[in-house]
Amino acid sequence: MTSPTAIGIDLGGTNIKASVIAGPSADVVTAEVYDTPSGSTTQVVSRLGEIAKELIALYGPLPLGLGVPGQFDRKTGVLRDLPNLEGDWDGYPLGTAVRDEIGQPVTLINDAQAFTLAEAIAGAGRGYETVAGIALGTGIGGGLVIAGRVHHGAHGSAGEVGHQVIAPDSSVECSCGNHGCLEALARADALADRAGQPDAASVFDAVRANDARAAAALAAVAEFLGIGLANLITLVDPDVIVVGGGLAQAGDLLLDPIREATSRHVRIAPPGGTPIVQGSLGINAGAAGAALRALTD
Ligand SMILES: [Zn+2]
Repeated sequence: MTSPTAIGIDLGGTNIKASVIAGPSADVVTAEVYDTPSGSTTQVVSRLGEIAKELIALYGPLPLGLGVPGQFDRKTGVLRDLPNLEGDWDGYPLGTAVRDEIGQPVTLINDAQAFTLAEAIAGAGRGYETVAGIALGTGIGGGLVIAGRVHHGAHGSAGEVGHQVIAPDSSVECSCGNHGCLEALARADALADRAGQPDAASVFDAVRANDARAAAALAAVAEFLGIGLANLITLVDPDVIVVGGGLAQAGDLLLDPIREATSRHVRIAPPGGTPIVQGSLGINAGAAGAALRALTD
């Protein structure tokens, strides 16, 4: 086994996932899942510090990447917007806080960018030049990886496919404050509400049981996602689109109608010419991607 090369920690609203990776194909040496403490920023930072110090004690002071569910200033590590994390995070200097806690540098990365990077290097996007990732869950994240590196854009938000406005007249407000974003229309709760089901997993069960309302809800959400991915293809023309997040676990039940809708809305690029595939790294992708980001800093 190759020696461990980096530590990645993925901070989510419910869980903190940590991975130690080794070698160029990001082999997972260890992967752990912890509960995210509810409450203050201090409690979360202290927990992140404990997890990091535990792994550093076991594997040495490796480069460390931290995935965060939102936007931040790449130069200062100050958070801008973390809509799905409890606590007062707006303007919080997470990068320096964690660095001070553990006594070594920390590289921040957006969680969906981390997912995309891991899938591009070691998962379903491996071997492709331009990889677009979309993470479907509580929110809708996205990222772009070109030639093995995250494309950040001028403000770090490149690839945020969830925040393109699909329906400007929509009354549904997005976590970003816009109306009619793809995320607001197609996130897990939006699918469940439309189907009259308690959660997204129940929607897929109902579709399998031939429930008409659930099928109509899935078709509507797949249509929104198809428009979003067609726009992505038109602007970026990626070699592959990798789909992750909780909803992707439904596999082709979700992906087939998305592929069909995407093909209908693509004109400039060849319709159906962009593979839309399920991620292959599962729940470890975010932490592995954060570790990979630390290596390319
Ligand atoms: Zn939005």
